[in-house]
Amino acid sequence: MSLDVTGPEMAFAIRVVREAARLAPRIQSGMAIMNLTKSDLSPTTVADYAIQALVAQALETAFPGESLVAEERSADLRGSEAMLDTVTGFVRQAVPDADADKVCRWIDRGDFDPSGRFWLLDPIDGTKGYMRGGQYAVALALIVDGRVELGLLGCPNLSGDCSPAACGDGVIVAARRGQGAWRAAMADDAPYVALHVSACTDPASARLMRSHEAAHTDAGKIETLTSVIGIRTPPVLMDSQAKYAVLASGHAELVFRLLSPKMPDYEEKIWDQAAGMIITEEAGGRVTDLDGRPLDFSRGRTLAGNRGVVASNGYLHERALNAVAEIG
Ligand code: AMP
Ligand code: MG
Repeated sequence: MSLDVTGPEMAFAIRVVREAARLAPRIQSGMAIMNLTKSDLSPTTVADYAIQALVAQALETAFPGESLVAEERSADLRGSEAMLDTVTGFVRQAVPDADADKVCRWIDRGDFDPSGRFWLLDPIDGTKGYMRGGQYAVALALIVDGRVELGLLGCPNLSGDCSPAACGDGVIVAARRGQGAWRAAMADDAPYVALHVSACTDPASARLMRSHEAAHTDAGKIETLTSVIGIRTPPVLMDSQAKYAVLASGHAELVFRLLSPKMPDYEEKIWDQAAGMIITEEAGGRVTDLDGRPLDFSRGRTLAGNRGVVASNGYLHERALNAVAEIG
């Protein structure tokens, strides 16, 4: 099996994710991170907006007829002139004729109502990790009729082998349905290395990952699950879909997204799961919701038909689902 990196869709996706994954740290080091709190109280930064504008502009140029669904909207940004100016400045470094109006128009190309065929972008997944100096990811996927066909994660702070042990020099992870999951270093000509989930079948040696942000999950319940499954080591905390890159590379066996007790009706956003899901599956792993259902990407901007997420190396999936069912 090999990844066709020369086909127009994958070549486009690799190019834009790599450029975005290089831009995000530059924005971070070049200035104090300017950020806004959106109406849903989540934070967003100059990088979220600049990357969304750049990917939308690149998509418009490469594939003018294609649709984009993306996390950010220009409405909050229009209310902050200083931030819009800064975002426009970064976009202009890559697209010299960019101005504030064009930037807002490109950002709002991501407002497509999901259906049929569309590209799906989370410009900075794990914004809180990005602001804290932790892990984050540029996440891009292609969805066709509810099926994830292609997914990429650009993880600027992850180590080259996707090990969670320490911050690294960055990695791009890419998967295409039927072509496996692959990783490459940040350099344009870096070779692709095939990813495989771990062969671990023993719960006692399993490594479990969860969100760094306790408010995005149920840390207490994950502790209970850990002991019901029989896992001996404490969970590894990490922001963003970088967790799926770690799982797909065999450095963890389980990723849990439980619902926070403060937000029991939370519906996962499609851009928070699509790329990570196909990467995990193409590396030989399995992804379902907490009830064992496949993730349903045909229900709009959220996974409205699902409850939480369990991702695994496959071998420990049933045991994880049974443990979820047992503790209720
Ligand atoms: P993580 O870093 O794994 O916690 O994932 C980051 C993503 O969690 C963000 O992109 C948000 O869209 C999403 N998120 C925000 N609030 C919640 C919540 N209450 N429960 C689950 N996920 C959330
Ligand atoms: Mg996100």
